[in-house]
Amino acid sequence: MIRSITQQKSEEEIERLVSDLNRIFIVGCGTCTTLTRTGGEPQVIEMKERLSEAGKMITGNTVVPVACDNLSGEIMDEYGSQIDQADAILIMSCAFGVQTIARQLKKMVVPALDTLFIGKETGPGQFNEICIQCGTCIIGETGGICPVTSCHKGLVNGPCGGTNNGKCEIDKNKDCAWTMIYTRLKELDRLDYMRKLQKPRNHLGEPTPGKFEIADG
Ligand code: SF4
Ligand code: SF4
Repeated sequence: MIRSITQQKSEEEIERLVSDLNRIFIVGCGTCTTLTRTGGEPQVIEMKERLSEAGKMITGNTVVPVACDNLSGEIMDEYGSQIDQADAILIMSCAFGVQTIARQLKKMVVPALDTLFIGKETGPGQFNEICIQCGTCIIGETGGICPVTSCHKGLVNGPCGGTNNGKCEIDKNKDCAWTMIYTRLKELDRLDYMRKLQKPRNHLGEPTPGKFEIADG
């Protein structure tokens, strides 16, 4: 399963973000941040208690099923007066959820979490970063393994000189991404791909804000 991976901002940062706000409405997300225990019901209650102790008035709280879905706006309509009373909405979802809610409500939003990456569940409660949406996908030539996210240095041509017995020089507990790519290509009898030189990654070329339009026709 693919999830948005988040972590809670430090207490100090949240304190700073709400320092000039007195009345706050708190929203959690019933999907990714419930699973990662960063913004589900228990964390929303915990945050409510913490902010109340810090002297804030919590005008209400809820956990919407999927914060990044446009339906969140309609669901939150039910809390109209509680939201009206609030100076801002503290949102405990990933940045997609925060932006979805911000676009639908005329209210300041405060993200309580930092969004780290899109992760694939690899075991109970464990997620691996699998893609940073770099815009130049090369996994067709690396046996389906992404070196941008799997290699500690994000090398698109590897391995570096530090690979040792299949482990990474930066983290000896971690398999070297480029050894995995080599092994995979060998299994597939396509070691010729190891000799392909990938273009250096262009960190400046992507226009922002990113846009995509389906071509006519
Ligand atoms: S190369 Fe890796 S980071 Fe880039 S698009 Fe492909 S999977 Fe995503
Ligand atoms: S040892 Fe392997 S995974 Fe580690 S930085 Fe070098 S090429 Fe990347």
